[in-house]
Amino acid sequence: MDPVFNPPLHRQRHQFVLDFVKKNKPKKVVDLGCSDCTLLKKLKFHREIELLAGVDINGATVKKKMRALAPMSTDYLQPTYDQLRVELYQGSVTQRDARLRGFDLVTCIELIEHLTLADVELFSAVVFGYMTPKAVIISTPNSEFNALFPGVTGFRHSDHKFEWTRAEFRSWAMKVCLDHDYEVEFTGVGKASPGQQESIGFCSQIGVFHRLGLRDSCNTALADSGDDVCSYTLLHSINYPTLRDNNTMRRVLVSEVLYWAEKLKNRWMEEMTFGLTESEQCMEEMEEMQTACGGKEMTTEVEQCDEVLDLSESHRCVSIPLAVLWSSCPKVCALSGSLTNLRHILMDNPEIKLNQDGSAVLVQYQEDDRDTEEVDVDLDDSGFAETRRFSHPAEQEDWDAEAAAAL
Ligand code: SAM
Repeated sequence: MDPVFNPPLHRQRHQFVLDFVKKNKPKKVVDLGCSDCTLLKKLKFHREIELLAGVDINGATVKKKMRALAPMSTDYLQPTYDQLRVELYQGSVTQRDARLRGFDLVTCIELIEHLTLADVELFSAVVFGYMTPKAVIISTPNSEFNALFPGVTGFRHSDHKFEWTRAEFRSWAMKVCLDHDYEVEFTGVGKASPGQQESIGFCSQIGVFHRLGLRDSCNTALADSGDDVCSYTLLHSINYPTLRDNNTMRRVLVSEVLYWAEKLKNRWMEEMTFGLTESEQCMEEMEEMQTACGGKEMTTEVEQCDEVLDLSESHRCVSIPLAVLWSSCPKVCALSGSLTNLRHILMDNPEIKLNQDGSAVLVQYQEDDRDTEEVDVDLDDSGFAETRRFSHPAEQEDWDAEAAAAL
């Protein structure tokens, strides 16, 4: 048999972890021996995770590609209510660090075979006795499978200190469970051929440990004993933008308000340009929005539709009532929660200009907005399209009168 796996074995090991995460939805996950953060990069897309940490003894390897763990531009532009903090540490799994206690899941993929057996004992005490996570996934080579690798006589890697048979792994895992009150299931990835699977097992053997929780009182005692050692070096930490953060929420709300104010202004411009029965259209849209927002309170705002857009010529501003913004845009509605809240938030923001009583947003009106607008209206050749290009509000009134007379 040619033990070349498809997908490659390292990907299958990571996929095993990802499947576990999908199913169990842990909030706090730490990858021990995270190397160049490959697994962490995949885990960060599981938005139920709120704290994602990585530890490796080799800080330089961690730093090499850790930038890929930074938020992407969409995380900033369209943050959600999900929250994620990433922390990367340089340190040894044989040492305690209080910041890694109380996690839901510890993963340890192809690490323990790089430790001496004495260090494996320390590792067991640190992970199961001190960190006491709810679940631990440990993968390590199954030495029985090595017979299927042509030319491999010793260990699979020169840095391996041991490679265990299934029985050896089982024996260590059972002792850990007894000592620290966990239970374990054995599985693996990288199957042998059907005839050999039973006698040889998986190429990478995996133990999935679950804390039984009977010794919670003992763990609490440890936590209370002032044992808050921090032996690892924090290499990097970052908080992803989240709408739960007040500043982020305000930033998104303001940009949403600016966007919608501009949009409503443009609608008004069109109305002035085409003389359409915009208020009817507007009413329809508002009614749709009302359903989206589900607010009874909105009825009054909808009724104000006729006075939505008011050109304040002296200030060269279009005035857009907050009530209309609040009811027009479901996101503004959801983020602010109430009209009063919306007003309070916008009042404090230097990017937003409100009218005197704080009931409307003032959007600057550029003379160009109407001067240069060349709108191609696909009417019959009655000459209306030409007539409808105007350069000043006053001309709109003239045109209205002329058009009315012509009709
Ligand atoms: N877990 C990764 C994966 O899934 O591909 C990388 C595994 S790599 C074979 C083993 C990693 O364990 C290396 O990055 C190494 O630096 C790290 N390592 C070795 N001894 C360690 C220790 N005592 N504490 C923390 N990390 C250790």
